[in-house]
Amino acid sequence: MHHFTYKNKMLYCENVPVQDVADQVGTPFYLYSTATLKRHFQAFETGFDGMDHLTCFAVKACSNIAILNIFGQMGGGADIVSGGELFRAMKAGIDPRKIIYSGVGKTRAEMREALYAGILMFNVESPQELDRLQEVAAELGTRAQVAFRINPDVDPKTHAYISTGLAENKFGVPVDEALQEYLRARDMENIEIVGVSCHIGSQLTQIAPFVEALRKVKGFIANLEQEGIGVKYLDLGGGVGIIYNDEEPPHPHDYAAAIRDELTGMECTLILEPGRVITGNAGILVTEVQYTKVNTGGEKDKRFVIIDAAMNDLTRPSLYGAYHEIIPVRESDETRHQVDIVGPICETGDFMARDRMMPETRQGDLLAIMSSGAYGFSMSSNYNSRPRAAEVLVSDECFQIIRYREEYETLLHGELLSVLD
Ligand SMILES: *Cc1c(COP(=O)(O)O)cnc(C)c1O
Repeated sequence: MHHFTYKNKMLYCENVPVQDVADQVGTPFYLYSTATLKRHFQAFETGFDGMDHLTCFAVKACSNIAILNIFGQMGGGADIVSGGELFRAMKAGIDPRKIIYSGVGKTRAEMREALYAGILMFNVESPQELDRLQEVAAELGTRAQVAFRINPDVDPKTHAYISTGLAENKFGVPVDEALQEYLRARDMENIEIVGVSCHIGSQLTQIAPFVEALRKVKGFIANLEQEGIGVKYLDLGGGVGIIYNDEEPPHPHDYAAAIRDELTGMECTLILEPGRVITGNAGILVTEVQYTKVNTGGEKDKRFVIIDAAMNDLTRPSLYGAYHEIIPVRESDETRHQVDIVGPICETGDFMARDRMMPETRQGDLLAIMSSGAYGFSMSSNYNSRPRAAEVLVSDECFQIIRYREEYETLLHGELLSVLD
């Protein structure tokens, strides 16, 4: 459920006409619905009612501080994967005691920053990372709270690029080697073992892989206990999928129920790191049609709709061949044609949709690229020296810019002409 609907043939975000935002902000822009963001966060949360748990929003899915702040105010924490995300989460007012740091490549500087902030837990992904964390914590005269990220070797049955829990993926420590690492960590002066973590992938549409991974992690926790190592936190990562097209992902409540069943009798605080399922369908990318054209001469005529948003703004179609529904901002029942919807970037891979049936589309029309609230703006770049899009947040009848459209000056920020011969 989201709050992007037609009223009198015009697309609204809650009670704001999308056209009004475009008139004031220009295109392209990301548009988020506060009611949808809150609703999705709440729906996820209530599934775990009565269980000791902490929901740490995965910052990489949608990292604008205005949005992080909403989740923070609702009691949420943050799952971060870089020093930059730590900085954002702190600026957004997230309690550092609710921040989890994941990722395979943490630098010394990033470790220092996170230790200094006093985050809840580092999810350590390799033996060398553990050694480095011990060193850095010793230098600061503090102790790092850690979990190891276990790689359970479970197939999440999702796109290969966002599968993370298979033995062949770069993530985590194999179950078989993890015990040895916990024993090593136990003897380290500046390391405190507090948890076990696991995250097997993104856009999962089935519950079974989650359960399979959880069972393996549970078995592992039992092994730890035999060695006298107890853990306070069980971090199950994120990964619950959403509907882009015809997927049938589990409802967050069914996901929660499956976990609840598996966890009966366990004493840990559960940590969850949802990203996509919270923000994915709470944001759209609004773009204006620049040109339409028909290329003849091939096997069949090919229609193109050229828009002012591109793969630098929303990279998912190019990167994963991902499907995003695209609808006109002014509802139309005109004749439908098969078109490619493409951006202005000089790459054939710069498309938002291929061979898509769309009602007759004309220069100047606004289109909404749906389900763009996760891995949309946060993956955007300046490729082709395109200033990044504005981000706008709606609440009921009001809207506010939460990130200005970049200007040309921003593109050159930090860039210098050379003084060398
Ligand atoms: C990306 C990521 C998440 C969030 O994944 P979603 O599929 O967006 O829920 C959670 N935890 C970790 C460690 C991640 O890398």
